Amino acid sequence: MKRVLAIGECMAELAPAGQPRDFTLGFAGDTFNTAWYLAQIAPDLDISYFTAIGDDSISQDMQSFFDASGINSTPVQVIPDKTVGLYLIHLNNGERSFSYWRDSSAARQLAVDGAALQTAMAEADFIYYSGITLAILDQPSRENLFQALRQARRHGKEVAFDTNLRPRLWTDTQQMTSTIMEAAACCDLVLPSYDDEAVWFGDRNVQDTIERYAGIGVRQIVVKNSDQSVVFQTPTQRGTVTVDPVTDVIDTTAAGDSFNAGVFAEILMGRDISIGIERGCQLARQVVQHKGALVCLPPQGEGASQ
Ligand code: ADP
Repeated sequence: MKRVLAIGECMAELAPAGQPRDFTLGFAGDTFNTAWYLAQIAPDLDISYFTAIGDDSISQDMQSFFDASGINSTPVQVIPDKTVGLYLIHLNNGERSFSYWRDSSAARQLAVDGAALQTAMAEADFIYYSGITLAILDQPSRENLFQALRQARRHGKEVAFDTNLRPRLWTDTQQMTSTIMEAAACCDLVLPSYDDEAVWFGDRNVQDTIERYAGIGVRQIVVKNSDQSVVFQTPTQRGTVTVDPVTDVIDTTAAGDSFNAGVFAEILMGRDISIGIERGCQLARQVVQHKGALVCLPPQGEGASQ
């Protein structure tokens, strides 16, 4: 059984529940969402989540939610007197906007203990993290994370990275772009989204994005592009996978996160990356037709992706 370790921040989510100022509490966050979808579609994988939470009641709720979702919470670190980050979704005439309280969340300390990271990675075959994971860390923690990832790769682990560019979480865009490139250079698989890459790296087309990452030695690159074709490159193939566009999109939250889970599920079963991308597209296509980050999917199998 392949062992997956996702690293990042899961937050408490308050989503509108009908009446004004009525909210439902949930839990979500980019790398966690991917782990959650992976647990839905690939129950044979052993999936763990590496983060830091506090020692209060909502932190315990979150950890229980990980376990109830089939995600092993053993590597979760508990930081006394801290709590988890929170975001609230505002709905105004169908438009969603967000307020965040995450500046002092426990997850910002997830990589303070480099030895804990190395221990967790030693137990994994496949490691996944994102640009948001990096953005919330201070520089010494980023160094701990890079060091642990480089060591993990020397030991034959595979590392996947979604660039997830969020300039508001970084000190400045130069720091964001240089750190993202440093991170990508120590990964086996990078999954950027073209829209954001074009804005922040000045890529003129999807091929520019592929070449920029290939140029620093990334062997497998999968460029998502909203409802446009996904373009990918590996050492042996270059290709595109057509997206069947949804016209009446309800909510694109977690489109990229669920897509990544589809890719990982297939490649961890030893299938070709193009099959993984097709699975990712099917999954994300279902997710954008529902509200919220975590969409319960119909049983997977024949016909389930219709
Ligand atoms: P992110 O959420 O990371 O910004 P994208 O918006 O590029 O990523 O979308 C990720 C994937 O979700 C796409 O590659 C595609 O497979 C799927 N997707 C997004 N929007 C649509 C849509 N309107 N119709 C069908 N699939 C979509």
